[in-house]
Amino acid sequence: MNQKPYLETMPDENGYFGKFGGSFIPPQLEEPFKDIREAYKKLSQSDEYIKELRYIRKHFQGRPTPIYHCKNLSKLIGGGQIYLKREDLNHMGAHKLNHTMAEALLAKSLGKKKLIAETGAGQHGVALATAAAYFGLECEIHMGEVDIEKEYPNVVRMKILGAKVVPATHGLKTLKEAVDSAFEAYVKDPQSQLFCIGSVVGPHPFPKMIRDFQSIVGLESKEQFKELTGKLPDTVAACVGGGSNAIGIFSGFIDDDVELYGVEPMGKGDKIGEHSASLTYGKEGVMHGFNSIMLSDENGEPAAVYSIASGIDYPSVGPEHAYLNSIGRTNIGHCNDEEAIDAFYKLSQYEGIIPALESAHAVAFAMKYAVQNPDKSILVNLSGRGDKDIDFVVDNYPIPTK
Ligand SMILES: *Cc1c(COP(=O)(O)O)cnc(C)c1O
Repeated sequence: MNQKPYLETMPDENGYFGKFGGSFIPPQLEEPFKDIREAYKKLSQSDEYIKELRYIRKHFQGRPTPIYHCKNLSKLIGGGQIYLKREDLNHMGAHKLNHTMAEALLAKSLGKKKLIAETGAGQHGVALATAAAYFGLECEIHMGEVDIEKEYPNVVRMKILGAKVVPATHGLKTLKEAVDSAFEAYVKDPQSQLFCIGSVVGPHPFPKMIRDFQSIVGLESKEQFKELTGKLPDTVAACVGGGSNAIGIFSGFIDDDVELYGVEPMGKGDKIGEHSASLTYGKEGVMHGFNSIMLSDENGEPAAVYSIASGIDYPSVGPEHAYLNSIGRTNIGHCNDEEAIDAFYKLSQYEGIIPALESAHAVAFAMKYAVQNPDKSILVNLSGRGDKDIDFVVDNYPIPTK
């Protein structure tokens, strides 16, 4: 009996992964979202669209990105073997161009003039501003004031690339507020703008679309890992904010006998406001237009969240992660601020690779995993490079002597 590959079976027509996902949007967005769904369905089957995406990935982004065996780090730890999928080597330094270039191509073919989005660490903003420049579109990025200060180099990059940066000044002034602010601006004119969500979150069809765009990471990884080692990795791990880099690499292995770990940021403690471990501590609820597992306060509102890595301090998680976790296909890994900093410096000093603080969470998990599983191999999605984080890190955590 021939079973359909997982990726073709999920989500359903209405964007549901089991009970998670869907589309909870105000009535005035029904029409523009219907247009997006139909345009994506058509484009995803169009040879021309796929051909253009392939061209962009190869000649502009620099794909395929390599897989790398961390021999020094593995030896240092004295356990299992750690490998990296080098998404930090994408043009602009993170996995995010995998979806922003495809979103911008979609916007272009829908006749939109402007791309609009929120950003946390600034990585999505930079990636979208890059795509807008490539396609000759306008770009407006909403960003929390706290993040603007913390991730200043990315703010400058967005401006150089021609984007307008709008500060979100309410609440905690981080990613969640930036999402609200961007959504508000989008609702005012959904006809000429495309809201380009930065992860596998938001109303249908975004969780599916972004997953499909990121699945290239998993498909490449599977082939490359086999070529390098002759088999599949025992385990695959990635940090989870909204979950796009994680679902991207998981996509290549869901139908295989490979353990999958989404690593959640434990921040500086287990109380609300000290972490952003949505799957670990959250419960079911609707936020930002989709049903998933979220961290909420006493009033059912999205809770305050924190992580040393601004790209993963999000109070919910992509619906597909909620689903895969609920059926036991994926596991949750953990990493706190201290462990992320340790991994940041270890990977830099023993491999010559400075990781983004987000990605350092997955590396830290792999280091713990390798100790406990000396006979196994673990492949980490190194979602981005750490240039954006170096000032913040060295100002707060002295450089260790080797
Ligand atoms: C944005 C970002 C993340 C978090 O986003 P996901 O959608 O969870 O992948 C992780 N790593 C880097 C480097 C990022 O820029």
